[in-house]
Amino acid sequence: MIKKKILEQWTVKDSEELYGINNWGAGYFGISKKGDVVITPFPDVEISIPEVIDGLKDRGLDMPLLLRVENILDNQIESLHKSFRKAIKNLGYNGEFRGVYPIKVNQQQQVVEEIASFGAEYHHGLEAGSKPELLTAMTYLNDPESCLICNGYKDKYFIDLGLYAVKMGMRCIFVMEMPNDLDLILERSKVLGIKPMIGIRMKTSTPADGHWGESSGEMGIFGLTTNQIMETVDVLKKENMLDCLCLLHCHVGSQISNIRDIRAAALEASRIYASLVKEGAKMGYMDFGGGLAVDYDGSHSNYSMSRNYTVDEYCADIIETVMAVMNEEDIPHPNVITESGRSTVAYYSVLLFNVLHVNRFEPADVPDSLPEETFESIKNMLYAYKTLTVKNVQECFNDALYYRDEVRQAFIAGDVDLRDRALADRIFWNIMHNIAQLKEKLKKIPPSLSEIEAVTADTYLGNFSVFQSLPDSWAIDQTFPVMPVHRLNEFPDRRGIITDLTCDCDGKLSKFNDLFCTKPSLELHSLNEDEPYYIGVFLVGAYQETLGDLHNLFGDTNIVSIRINEDGTYKIVREVEGDSVGDVLSYVEYNTKDMAEIFRKKAENAIDAGKISPNERKMIMKVYEKVLNGSTYLK
Ligand code: PLP
Repeated sequence: MIKKKILEQWTVKDSEELYGINNWGAGYFGISKKGDVVITPFPDVEISIPEVIDGLKDRGLDMPLLLRVENILDNQIESLHKSFRKAIKNLGYNGEFRGVYPIKVNQQQQVVEEIASFGAEYHHGLEAGSKPELLTAMTYLNDPESCLICNGYKDKYFIDLGLYAVKMGMRCIFVMEMPNDLDLILERSKVLGIKPMIGIRMKTSTPADGHWGESSGEMGIFGLTTNQIMETVDVLKKENMLDCLCLLHCHVGSQISNIRDIRAAALEASRIYASLVKEGAKMGYMDFGGGLAVDYDGSHSNYSMSRNYTVDEYCADIIETVMAVMNEEDIPHPNVITESGRSTVAYYSVLLFNVLHVNRFEPADVPDSLPEETFESIKNMLYAYKTLTVKNVQECFNDALYYRDEVRQAFIAGDVDLRDRALADRIFWNIMHNIAQLKEKLKKIPPSLSEIEAVTADTYLGNFSVFQSLPDSWAIDQTFPVMPVHRLNEFPDRRGIITDLTCDCDGKLSKFNDLFCTKPSLELHSLNEDEPYYIGVFLVGAYQETLGDLHNLFGDTNIVSIRINEDGTYKIVREVEGDSVGDVLSYVEYNTKDMAEIFRKKAENAIDAGKISPNERKMIMKVYEKVLNGSTYLK
């Protein structure tokens, strides 16, 4: 736990420790001497995030902003391949590694294009789970050695497209998710006269831990049971097409924190693979799906927001497990595929937003004494407030709750007036405030006090929408690293939760990563007058952009992609302006031209009724149109 230091003694090192940036940053992020968060894709190169923000503001690009760093994508692909190559070489494995990127994890054109072009050197392919994703993969994948893995449900058109891809020389493999996928594949293959490349997704026998583990185990939705796998083999034999079966697929789930789950699934899959070869299938590929986790909290543990292994260990464990089984069964080593999505793209995007306002938790003063006739519970509450010490924290907490409830009931019954109820509330919150301060001095914190920080924290209003930009933090309680991106050489003198712009009580960040756990509030700085305060949410490149929704009609933020050069300069490679108010209205089926027309008539009627002048109509329409064409976020 970080030691509290007074302002002058606080250093950048303390901020590094407090926010854990060196634990979760994977070497891509750090803090400069000046106290800015910097991006560090190369040794000795530091790009200051606040300076990037200033440069973008000068160009007219406002907050909130999704900042993408293209180099990080390349680095992640390169490092995965290097780790697999190292394991293959060290262990003397005879197969090769062929990674594929699952498009669903971040479908943006820039991501897919960059991965397809940079990945070609490593024969890094793509994975598609729908017709739009298949079209994308067929369009952008140019390397004939790379795989195009087709997961998900398939219809005639999906299969026809995939078969044409095979005809054009692509390694396009249909993975059977369900037994009856085979009928359609065989039928279309006969009609088009193109031999398919077929894979089978197996169900693993034990589900993995964690939120996403539901995609594994016998109750998982996808995949074939061992019996269904054997039936598939029999049909292919009968059709004289067993040579089309080339891949076994096994996906344990996403964000697999415990390496044991990965090893267990790899072992089971290896046995099934070996059995299929013995049945006479040609095989050649083992695909371990996704699951390579991201260490969001930097604890390097099997906590759900972390992983208890390195990428090197992940690769070595898979290769070692497959190799041991294949050697034992005297079967050639297959090429290994993984479909790592999260770990490929998570680091590459940072959500940046400014703080618009802070509601400080500072309860108003309480009187020293109360008139004799004051309601008894209020007097008792004041007594608890005055006698609170480290020794009786729990007792005062219990008393405060008890007397507060009594006052509320008395108010409902008409025995306490509004002024006295307000006084009781004030005393209550002063007690909570003091308990929150004293709590730090307790050796052991009672469970009932563990959340007190959350209710006594300041509220920082952020210019963003959780639902649009961080949907998993709302939907599945995922935590991301969150921290101010500047002033990190200053003591963060406040603790706060961060609320967003939506009118929804779920629109907030109130769980922050701590090592092995979460904390209910974040250390932040008091706002300086006339100075913006910027907060970054890191590691948001995976799943967040496409799962985001239009709650309260807050649209896409501005997006800027940069590429950092080894000489320490950077170039803006792509800018995408965020949604305008008109854009989001049209997404929910409004015709904005009609709307403006309806409103114009309304304004004209207001002139007829003598409520506004023609000149005022002009001004009103100007504001209407400005808002319609402007950003959904606040200026
Ligand atoms: N492959 C399949 C079949 C998946 O369902 C998923 C996601 O759950 C992935 C790959 C990507 O997983 P991850 O993002 O954990 O790498």
